[in-house]
Amino acid sequence: MDKEEKQINEAALEIRKNKQPSKKENIIELVSQYCKGCGLCVDSCPTGTLLLEDNIHSKFGISVMVDAPEYCIGCKMCERRCPDFAIFINHEKDKEEQ
Ligand code: SF4
Ligand code: SF4
Repeated sequence: MDKEEKQINEAALEIRKNKQPSKKENIIELVSQYCKGCGLCVDSCPTGTLLLEDNIHSKFGISVMVDAPEYCIGCKMCERRCPDFAIFINHEKDKEEQ
């Protein structure tokens, strides 16, 4: 991970420090082969749920991981920000409710 990527993670952890776990369970689905590790989702998450990690299985060498799923509030900011359609929130649950 380079300096900028480490800073994105540090900022996310700082945000999480001041949060409580969510009362609702949310399902975060990663489509890891599409993730280029840009960090936009980590940067936009208001609860510090997501982090970047080195990933030797990715052609980009880095990808996002769900570090603290219990903090996810289901806001879908990450899904909206992702330019590569690599992260979905409550996708199956939303379909069932429709
Ligand atoms: S849905 Fe919201 S809280 Fe959950 S990981 Fe995405 S941005 Fe973070
Ligand atoms: S915004 Fe999308 S491509 Fe970028 S790190 Fe997050 S999931 Fe991966």
